[in-house]
Amino acid sequence: MSHATGRAAPGERHFLPVYRSGRIVLDHGSGSRVYDRDGREYVDFGAGIAVNALGHAHPALVEALTAQAGRLWHTSNVFTSEPALQLAQALVEAAGFAERVFLCNSGAEANEAAIKLARQWATAKGRGPERRVVLSFSGSFHGRTLATVTATAQPKYHAGFEPLPGGFRYSGFNDLAAAEAAMAAGDVCAVLVEPVQGEGGVTPAEDAFLHGLRALCDRHDALLVFDEIQCGMGRTGHLFACDGYGVRPDVVTLAKALGGGFPVGAMLVGARGADALGFGQHGTTFGGNPLAAAVACAALRELSSSALLANVARQSTALRDGLAALDRELGLFAEVRGRGLMLGAQLRPAHAGRAGDILDRCTARGLLVLQAGPDVLRFVPALNIGDSDVAEGLSRLRAALSDHLAAG
Ligand SMILES: *Cc1c(COP(=O)(O)O)cnc(C)c1O
Repeated sequence: MSHATGRAAPGERHFLPVYRSGRIVLDHGSGSRVYDRDGREYVDFGAGIAVNALGHAHPALVEALTAQAGRLWHTSNVFTSEPALQLAQALVEAAGFAERVFLCNSGAEANEAAIKLARQWATAKGRGPERRVVLSFSGSFHGRTLATVTATAQPKYHAGFEPLPGGFRYSGFNDLAAAEAAMAAGDVCAVLVEPVQGEGGVTPAEDAFLHGLRALCDRHDALLVFDEIQCGMGRTGHLFACDGYGVRPDVVTLAKALGGGFPVGAMLVGARGADALGFGQHGTTFGGNPLAAAVACAALRELSSSALLANVARQSTALRDGLAALDRELGLFAEVRGRGLMLGAQLRPAHAGRAGDILDRCTARGLLVLQAGPDVLRFVPALNIGDSDVAEGLSRLRAALSDHLAAG
């Protein structure tokens, strides 16, 4: 990629080239503003991919991390620590459906744990390997390990990584009849679904689809696993996305916003699966790390507050209204969809494939946004973002979209 000064993009020389090489190097942040090493300021509508749910340098998180940093960093799971105990208890108490928790470090690991739990759960019922199929849906994203990338029903993430692990099946998202057919043989042990798909294009599940999957899992004795790694922790305006749908899953996986920017993941398990994994059947060295757990406890307290969830609803409306107004003026969006502060603007066919270009225009105008595939702009700001940050972000977006139109 060309650069005004002709220099290579930062990191181009030493990083594996698996990411789009960016122009800017971020240095520090406060709330929903972040600054690069040249002192340029950005409004942050991306929040590190829906991770910095309380913005940058939130005082309660900084306090939790620094206090813990002076006490104890790591114990492994041979021994436990007070922050890990507190986090497990707080998560079970916050989640009506959960009885037990497994703490890990990332989203992929949380889903990997859920897949392994479902397989052991079926094994304990005497089901052979051919009857331990995991069903997932087109457009999904569940992670990058071999098992979770196989569960990710998007061919572009599979290509060249074959042979992929067996026992995975795919069906159409929001197509209940197809899911019914895919489960008819009675060989599915788990249904893995994002209540709101993130990477796949910011697409909410329909109410009837999730309620229907619950009924199918009951009928065919399968576990219903919600991947709330992106849409959980308040993002939809409910602490858990399943609460907004009124569906009770058997397993929920979390990561991203759980640590407010500190790496941590969790698998929450309800009564049906709570005893499926026994001593020695799964584990992790870093999971439940005291630093991560201390920050996640503080984040959970903030994210559970009714004032914060009310702000999600308020800013969701402001952002949706702003995007609709931009579309009336500039005519770029085919649709704006999503829940809470997880919104996607689908580009009109004339601008298909241009989301990456528009992202660069936004960066140049002092706005950080994301894409979800080549045709969707994704907005996942901090859940405590304020009125003036939303207004300023929208105004910078207007400038960037005008630049895009002017460049043709
Ligand atoms: C980000 C994401 C993952 C993977 O999480 P990592 O922490 O990157 O491993 C899985 N599922 C969903 C829905 C995600 O958004």
